[in-house]
Amino acid sequence: MGSASESIEERLKALHINYLQGLPAKFAVIDDQWRKLCESPKSHERLTELHRSTHTMAGSGATFGCPEVGSAARNIESNIRLLIESDQPLDEQKVNEIETLIDRLKEEIDAVTSRGWQEGESIETLVAEVPSESEHDEQGDDEGSRGLIYLLEQDEPLSKEIALQIVQFGHQIRCFKHPDALRSAVLEQVPQIVIADLSSFGSEQSGVDAIHQMQEHLSEPVPVIFVSEKSEMHARLESVRAGGAAFFTKPLDIAILIDRLDQIGREGGEEPFRILIVDDSVSQSKYYAMILQQHGMITKVVNNPIEVLEPIQELNPDLILIDMYMPECNGLELAKVIRQLNECVSLPIVFLSSETSVDKQLVAMSQGGDDFLTKPIKPNHLISAVTSRVQRYRTIRSMMLRDSLTGLYNHTTIKEQLKNALHRAERHDGVVSFAMIDIDNFKSVNDTYGHPVGDRVIKSLSRLLQQRMRRSDLVGRYGGEEFAVILPNTDKQTAVRVLDSVREVFAKIQHSSEQGEFNVTFSAGIASYPDFDNSTLLSEAADRALYEAKHAGRNQIVKG
Ligand code: GH3
Ligand code: MG
Ligand code: MG
Repeated sequence: MGSASESIEERLKALHINYLQGLPAKFAVIDDQWRKLCESPKSHERLTELHRSTHTMAGSGATFGCPEVGSAARNIESNIRLLIESDQPLDEQKVNEIETLIDRLKEEIDAVTSRGWQEGESIETLVAEVPSESEHDEQGDDEGSRGLIYLLEQDEPLSKEIALQIVQFGHQIRCFKHPDALRSAVLEQVPQIVIADLSSFGSEQSGVDAIHQMQEHLSEPVPVIFVSEKSEMHARLESVRAGGAAFFTKPLDIAILIDRLDQIGREGGEEPFRILIVDDSVSQSKYYAMILQQHGMITKVVNNPIEVLEPIQELNPDLILIDMYMPECNGLELAKVIRQLNECVSLPIVFLSSETSVDKQLVAMSQGGDDFLTKPIKPNHLISAVTSRVQRYRTIRSMMLRDSLTGLYNHTTIKEQLKNALHRAERHDGVVSFAMIDIDNFKSVNDTYGHPVGDRVIKSLSRLLQQRMRRSDLVGRYGGEEFAVILPNTDKQTAVRVLDSVREVFAKIQHSSEQGEFNVTFSAGIASYPDFDNSTLLSEAADRALYEAKHAGRNQIVKG
C-alpha cells in the first residue's frame, strides 16, 4: 500500500517548490498585462491575454498546494471574463476593484513564497510510472505501451500540471520540452498518444511540419493531440493533415483533455469486426471472405446453411452475409430462423444475390434482412455496406448493455455477468470477488457544486476504475453514484488491496468547479465466492460490508 500515494506526495512537493520559484515572474507578467490593459482598456487582445494568464494561475494554484493564490487569481479572472463577455467598459470603479484584487494576489504570493522553500530544488522532467498491481496482474494482459503518453510542452508549470492530472488516471507520461527530444523518444518507443503544444515550436506551421515528418518515420501514424493558442480554421486544418486526432486551444481544460485521451485509447483498441458468410458456393464465399479479411475483419464461412447455428455461437458475429438462393434452405428462411435466436434479434443480416428484381429484394428486406447487395458486388461497396452496419450495430448494442454517462456496464448487465462469472468459477473450482462501491456524501457534492460537476465526479471514478482494473475484471455502474466490480480469479485479500489502492488515488484527485477545487472519497464492501455461493447472497454480503464501511466513517474498504 502507499507507493502510489507516496510518489504522488513526493512529486507534489517537488512541483510545489518549483511552482513557488516561478510565481514572482508570473505575477510580474500579470501585473504588466494589467498596466497595458489600463492604457488601452478597449483592447480585446489585452483582455484575453490577461484572462489567459489569470486563468492559468487560478487553475495551477490549488494543484500546487497554494489554494489562496489560486482563488486570488480566480477573482481577477472572473472579473476579466465578465468584461470580455458583457462588453462593459473598464470604468474607474472597475479599475479600482481589479487593482485591489491584484494587490491581494501580490500579497498572497508574497505570503506563500516567504513561507519558505528549499533553494535549488527543481525537477527536470517528470517521468511518472503507473503504480503496478503486480500480484493482481497475474494474467499478464499484453497491453504493450497502452496508456503511454508523450507530452511536448515548453511551459514547465503547465506541463507538470497536465502530467500530474493525467498520471492520476493511470496513464504513464513523459514530458519533453524540445521537439527533437520528442522525436527521438517516439522513434525509440512509440507511445499511444502524443500531445504537442504548437507554441513549443518556432511557429505553429513548423510545429505541424515537424509532427508530419515524425509520422513519416513510423509504420503507422501515432494519434496526436495538438494544443494551440489559436482556434482558427487554418490551424485546425493543418493539424488534421498532420494526423491530428484532436485540437485543443489554450487555456487548456484538462478534464476534457483526459476524456479525449480515453476516447482515443478506446478507438485504438476496437476489436476487429466478425462476419459470418453463408453461401453454398465455395469459391464465392472464399472471395468475400478474402475481401473482408484484407480490411482487417475476421470471417467464418458456412457452405451448408443447415449448419449455421454452431458457427453463430462460436463466432458471435457482428453481421451475417447470406446468399439468397441455396439448396435445402433459402436465404429468407434462414434469416427468419436466425432472427428467432434471442441473441440475434438485432444482428444485421445482409443478403447477397444476383437477384435484380426490386420487388423480390423488397420481400427479402421485409422478412428480416437489413440490406440487399447485388452480385457481382464491388469490393469497396461490400466493405462500406458491412462497415456502416457493424458500426451501428455495435453502438446500439453498447447502448443496451452500457450506461450512457460512463460507458460502464449497466445494472442489468453487471448482474448477468456476475451470474456468468460464478458459473465459470463453479466449473473450475475458482474464486470470484465482488465489490460494491458508493461515493461518500455525494449528495453534498451535488448540493455544493451542482449536478453537472457531480456527473464529472462520477465519470472520473468510472474512468479510474476502468484503468486500474484488469481487462478480465468487469466494472459496472450499479446506480446513481454506486459502482460494482467483478474480479474473477481474485481472492478477497487481493481484491481489498486492489480496491484500496484505487480508493487512495481517487481521494487525491482534485475535482474542479467554479467554487474551487475539492476532493471526494468512496467506500466499498467486498465479498467473495465461494464464501457466498450464489449471486444474490454474494451481492447482499458486499452490500452489507459497504454499509459497515459507511458506518465506520466512510473512505474505507470492508470485507464481507
Ligand atoms: P453516503 O456517504 O451515505 O453514500 O451519502 P450520499 O450523499 O452519497 O448518499 P445518498 O444516497 O443520500 O445520495 C446520493 C446522491 O447521488 C443523491 C442523488 O441526487 C445523487 N445522484 C444519483 N445519481 C446521480 C447522477 O447521475 N448524477 C449526479 N450528479 N448525482 C446523482
Ligand atoms: Mg448511494
Ligand atoms: Mg453515496
